[in-house]
Amino acid sequence: MELHHGKHHQAYVDGANAAVAKLEEMRASGDFAAVNGVEKNLAFHLGGHTNHSVFWRNMSPDGGGNPEGEVAAAIDEFFGGFESFKAHFNGNANAIQGSGWSILAWDTIGERLNVMQLFDQQGNVPVGQIPVLMLDMWEHSYYLQYENVKADYVKAWWNVVNWADVTDRLARARATTGLIVPA
Ligand code: MN
Repeated sequence: MELHHGKHHQAYVDGANAAVAKLEEMRASGDFAAVNGVEKNLAFHLGGHTNHSVFWRNMSPDGGGNPEGEVAAAIDEFFGGFESFKAHFNGNANAIQGSGWSILAWDTIGERLNVMQLFDQQGNVPVGQIPVLMLDMWEHSYYLQYENVKADYVKAWWNVVNWADVTDRLARARATTGLIVPA
């Protein structure tokens, strides 16, 4: 995880900053011929920064156990219980084709929790989904320790999930209801 944080995450921050600088150059020159490539880089690298920023805080050495309070209630409401949610989230994570993330997100329009697959760092999740729990399913996240047995990595990860952080995130996400489509 130290390598993951220091090397991989830093590369996304650098990449996002480089893309922002390129767009500034484009505005200065008025030449937007290369805009598609730069926009792809911006989405990928900014996505990497965003995703890892959530992921690190979603974990704690004192984590694990079952969610309580508002998170437990929301999981019951939208997934029919914690075990059913966990099975869904794990199945979702283990089935991701290629690199990606398994995400529990608050849908600000539907006012509900969704489990979603995020491809690479930026694909397959529409705007308006606010992540509250994210699991990195890129090979770099598990291969050093778990080699090809990613199901064991997913299983072990629940032992470090920081439910206090998830609780804070869900409360803040819910406070944005109406942000995109006002009631
Ligand atoms: Mn990663």
